[in-house]
Formats: sequence, structure tokens, C-alpha cells
Amino acid sequence: MSIRFIQMADPQFGMFSSISKLTEEEAISRSREGLTLRYVEQEFDGFAPETQLFSKAIRYANEYKPDFVVMCGDMVHEADSEDQRNELFRITSQLNKDIPIYWVAGNHDVGNTPTASTLNAYRELYGKDNYAFQMENYYFIAINSSVCSDPSLVLEEWDSLIGFLEIELKKASNMNATHKVVFLHHPLFLETSDEPDNYFVIPFQRRQEIISLLDQNKASAVFSGHLHRNNYRNIKGIEYVSTGPVGYPLADDPSGIRIVDLDVTGLRHHYLSLE
Ligand SMILES: [Zn+2]
Repeated sequence: MSIRFIQMADPQFGMFSSISKLTEEEAISRSREGLTLRYVEQEFDGFAPETQLFSKAIRYANEYKPDFVVMCGDMVHEADSEDQRNELFRITSQLNKDIPIYWVAGNHDVGNTPTASTLNAYRELYGKDNYAFQMENYYFIAINSSVCSDPSLVLEEWDSLIGFLEIELKKASNMNATHKVVFLHHPLFLETSDEPDNYFVIPFQRRQEIISLLDQNKASAVFSGHLHRNNYRNIKGIEYVSTGPVGYPLADDPSGIRIVDLDVTGLRHHYLSLE
């Protein structure tokens, strides 16, 4: 049996508007950080571009009929904006009821430095942030990478996350799962697993702990978002895939979604533009 799913990331309702309000100096300083700012036209409020893009993504999913959709974080730009969240959920409710959607926490959903209170708020809205599920002989694990990125205010959350990941990967190994796939928001790294820390990736020490579990248990792939562009690495047989945004792109890749197929022969995926 094969499984097919759609990975999405960063619909980030409110980001287009926020970018439209940057001053020229702010825009220039973002460009110096290597970000390509597009669609900066007239200043505007709301989230019309996100509505259009995410609606298109959901319409595509309804036609394609995947086994599930996974949304790899940054659902909204401002976690405390009820308007942004209502729009996210309004459009999500148009997904056919027989297609499950799995939420993964992003830094815009729980903060760059999560606290007990941001994590509680997230869990009330979206459910668990660390969880696993199986389909056929395939094993999927989602973790909250903002806790990996900066657990300074919730140290016990990091301990429970890494313990959870270890247990679930072992279970998947023990049942001889055909594929073990991990979903998170932040990529573990951009180029090489030992690269220096930067805003985009999980810091070295916790990154190494995660990678060593992935290596030991021969994971198939790790899917992330956060970059607002595509990025691909294959290290020790594990595919590390960062997928461009449903929402605002920060490089040359268009807004889009990723189609993934898994079967006993392997894992195939491609990026589909929403533009
Ligand atoms: Zn992010």
C-alpha cells in the first residue's frame, strides 16, 4: 500500500499586511539579512492574499484526496489575533471531512521563546504539539520545534520532547515501520548538520541530539517550513526537506504546497506552486 499526503507550511495569516507596513529602512535591513521582500505594494490591513492562497491550497487538497494534510507551523502571524485565527479555521473547515489535518506548532504560534502560557494557549486551540500517528505500516511523528529552538523558559518541555521523540522512533523501529517521518517547523540545519547556529535552525546541541536519534532509528525524512522557501538536503540517507510557504515567500520560490508519496520502494515528493 502507498500513502500520499500534502505538506503545507506558513500560511501565516497577517504577514503580507505586516510586510506592507515596513518602513524603507526596515525593508532594507531585512534584505541585508538575505530575505527577498516581494509584493510590497500599498500598505494594507487584513489578510486577503493569505485567504486566496490558503483557499487554493485547500481546494487542491479536496481534489487530490490525500490520506492527510500536515500543516508545519506558523498558521498565523500574530498568535493573539482572533481575526487571523478565525480566517485560518474558516478556510480549514472547507477541507473535506474525510481528510484529517495535522497541526504542527511554529514560532509565530507559540513564540520564539515559548512559555507555559503560550504552550497552553496553543494546545487549547490546536491540540497536542508532540504526537505520533500511524497509517498502514508508516509512522509519523510531529514535534514542537520552538521548544527545541529556545526552551529556556520551559526546560521540562525540552526533556519531555526529546524523551517522546526517542520513544516514538524506537516504537517505529521495533515494528519495523516502512517509513519513519518527522514533522516540525524549524529546519534542523540549512546546509550541513554541524553548521553554526542561526535564526533559521535548531541550535547545535539540541540539533545533534535529535539527529542522533534520527540516525540510530534510520528515519526516512524530516519535513519542515519556517524558511518561506524550499531547501533540500540528504544526509546519511535521511531526506531533510523544508517547504516553501502557503503564504508570503521570502526568496525565489513561489507560494506553494508539497505533494508526498510513500511506498515500500521509497519516498517521492514535489513542490506545487499556488501562484
Ligand atoms: Zn517560523
